[in-house]
Amino acid sequence: MSKTEVAPVEGFLRQGLFYFLQPLLLVVVISSWYLDPIREQTYLLVIIFVQLVLGLSEQVFPARPAWSSNAKEKIRNVTLVVMLTISALMVTELYQVWLSEPLGAVRKSLGLNIWPHHWPLLVQLFMVFLLSELIWYWMHRAEHRWKLVWRLSAHGSHHSFKKLGALNFGLNHPLEYFFIVLPSFLVELTFGVGSAALGAAILTVSQTSIVHSNIVLNTRWIGLLLTTNRYHICHHSIVLSESNTNYGCSAILWDRLFGTFLDKTIDDAGTGPTEPTLWEKFLMPFKEPEGTTIAPVGSEVGL
Ligand SMILES: [Zn+2]
Repeated sequence: MSKTEVAPVEGFLRQGLFYFLQPLLLVVVISSWYLDPIREQTYLLVIIFVQLVLGLSEQVFPARPAWSSNAKEKIRNVTLVVMLTISALMVTELYQVWLSEPLGAVRKSLGLNIWPHHWPLLVQLFMVFLLSELIWYWMHRAEHRWKLVWRLSAHGSHHSFKKLGALNFGLNHPLEYFFIVLPSFLVELTFGVGSAALGAAILTVSQTSIVHSNIVLNTRWIGLLLTTNRYHICHHSIVLSESNTNYGCSAILWDRLFGTFLDKTIDDAGTGPTEPTLWEKFLMPFKEPEGTTIAPVGSEVGL
């Protein structure tokens, strides 16, 4: 087996995970929200639950054994994710203060009070999810297309890891949270969505954990609408033509529609041949590490 070769799906348990892990996890997290759609604590509980299930599965049945992290790396990543999740919650609070009033005013002046609150909650959830993902698709595509946006969002930090696992969902530069949490806010506040917004946030955060996981998962059927880890790992390739695909981190539908979908097993992940240090990752808004292969070089207009 070469350095990053994917393990075959053999044995009862591996096959069980292959076919059922992603759909079952999604059913569980959506149900946990649906039972009490306004309980905000569900969001953090779901993150912890999904991470535990995926972390255990990666430990026992890693897709790429070379990507399994040792105890020291795991502790470092968990610590970083906890700190960065706190940053994300702080950005969320800031947006709440900054955007609630102006977007509420926009809603009133443009007559955007059209959200179908009387429709089934699950339908509303998928509407918010897909609309937010549509905005994220173009923001993410812009990050990879324009050097200025790449630097401002420090998106290279997220791509710079050579090993991927479920925890990578939360390994983003603190600055990037100003980008990551924006789409759902725009949809929620522009249309005055209500409790479906929390459900969509829970679905999105679960999906982003699953798509980074180091487990072999099925892509058939589920991969028509939702992103699977095979598709998202392709986006983390060190090869530019493979990396500039699959921008939808939770829904793959928009890549399929806008012609950026790619289904391929990659040889290597990261931004270059070696992984930058934590300090170099932190400085990425100002300085690109040596040998970066996937950062945008131009600033010309056009996607
Ligand atoms: Zn990216």
